[in-house]
Parts: sequence; C-alpha cells; structure tokens
Amino acid sequence: MLTIRDLTKTYANGVRALDGISLDIPRGMFGLLGPNGAGKSSLMRTLATLQEADAGSAILDNGDGPAIDVLRDKDAVRRQLGYLPQDFGVYPKVSALDLLEHFAVLKGLTNRKQRREVVDGLLHQVNLWNVRKQKLGGFSGGMRQRFGIAQALLGDPRLVIVDEPTAGLDPEERNRFLNLLAEIGENVAVILSTHIVEDVTDLCPSMAIVNKGKVLLSGEPNAAIAAL
Ligand code: ADP
Ligand code: ADP
Repeated sequence: MLTIRDLTKTYANGVRALDGISLDIPRGMFGLLGPNGAGKSSLMRTLATLQEADAGSAILDNGDGPAIDVLRDKDAVRRQLGYLPQDFGVYPKVSALDLLEHFAVLKGLTNRKQRREVVDGLLHQVNLWNVRKQKLGGFSGGMRQRFGIAQALLGDPRLVIVDEPTAGLDPEERNRFLNLLAEIGENVAVILSTHIVEDVTDLCPSMAIVNKGKVLLSGEPNAAIAAL
C-alpha cells in the first residue's frame, strides 16, 4: 500500500529527524511506535505533504489507479489522504455540524444534498450525531478527536494518518477512539503514530518502532516487542 525508502530529513537547526526510514505499510491499521522526539511527527508531516524530505521516496499504491509518488504528486496525495495532526485545533464557537459542513465545502463537496448526506453519515459514524449542534468549545478531548476523524474522513481517503491521537484521553474515551480507528482500518490504511505501546498491541496487526529517526524493527506487534 505505502512503500517508504531511505527517507531523510535534517532540520535547519541540525536535528536529523529522519535518518534513512524504510517501511512497507500494508492496508489496515499500522502502528508507528516511538518515544517523544523519535521522528514520528516529522514522518507523518512528510507523508501528509506538509513538509519536504531531503532524500528518499514514498510510493502510495492502493491497487486501483496509478501509483502515486507521495513526495512529488502532492495534489494526488491530498485527494487520497486524511490527516489528523497532533496539534489539531478547532474553532470553539462553531458547532460540530457547521464546521464539518464548512470543511466538506472546502473538500469540493459542492452539491448540497450530497454534502449533507456525507456529513450526516460521518457524524453518525463517529458517534457525535446527538451533539452535532453543540459548540466545539464544550467538547471533551475524546469528542474533539472523534470530530477530527470525521474531518479526516471527508473525501473518502484511501490512507488516514493519525498523529498521537490518544494523548490526554481518559481510558474510556481512549477505548472508544481506538475502536473507531479499528472500524475505519477495515476499509482503508490507517497509520497510527503513538508513544503508547498498548495503542499498538491492542489493535494494530503490524507496526514499526522508531527511535532517533531510524526504524528499530517492524512486523507483528507481539513478536516484534518480544524480540526487543
Ligand atoms: P516555521 O519556522 O516554518 O514557522 P516552525 O519552526 O515554527 O516552522 O515549526 C513548525 C512545526 O514544528 C510547529 O508545529 C512547531 O511546533 C514544530 N517544532 C518546531 N521546532 C520544534 C522542535 N525543536 N521540536 C519539536 N517540534 C518543533
Ligand atoms: P516525535 O513526533 O516522535 O515526537 P518529531 O518528529 O516531532 O518526533 O521530532 C523529531 C526531532 O526533530 C526532535 O529532536 C525534534 O525536536 C526535532 N524537530 C521536530 N520538528 C522540528 C522543526 N520544525 N524544526 C526543528 N526541529 C524539529
């Protein structure tokens, strides 16, 4: 699904955040595990076309349609990608329904009836239908993250990237959120970046551990962690 080879990135301050990352990411849930500062966000931002790599390649090939060169065909990637960044912010005075509608318009869903169907479907899917008319400022962390997922799913992406989504959630909201991700992972590739081991062992069939910009190991979680 996503083939990453020898990705490198050194920031202007001299920090080498990506030091030759190679990964084969299949369909379904893929966990990217590593401590703070490992390079996870740098990798996620690079794949989301929000920052440039210095060298290497990333090819997205979902089987239908031509393969996409992630580092060069940015428009094509953006059409296929849903991204929930770590520092995802919301407009506190706007309702969930209104903001999701707004993002749907920006995504090019210009037909009003069709847009309404998509937005309503997503609000149901992330379990925010009952609170859709409430302002986002009153939402809990978990509700915000679920709203973020609805936003990321607009446009029917083939690849969804979620960066440290469970940080700060209480156990119940965390479970709820991870179950939602697992459901989504049945249909699309989901890359879950996290520093929490259980996020990965609980629901990712495959994973990689990164540290200091390098892949330490990758594979099936329990086997991989046992090998550490
Ligand atoms: P720009 O100079 O293009 O505005 P920034 O240097 O502000 O970019 O950084 C862009 C993103 O990277 C921001 O989200 C910022 O918080 C984050 N960032 C910047 N410096 C660091 C750092 N040393 N460690 C981790 N994140 C950083
Ligand atoms: P993680 O997401 O695993 O915490 P990051 O990709 O945020 O890791 O950071 C990897 C390294 O790169 C860290 O040393 C961090 O301080 C540094 N870093 C991240 N973003 C920037 C930036 N925009 N400018 C300079 N250094 C950065």
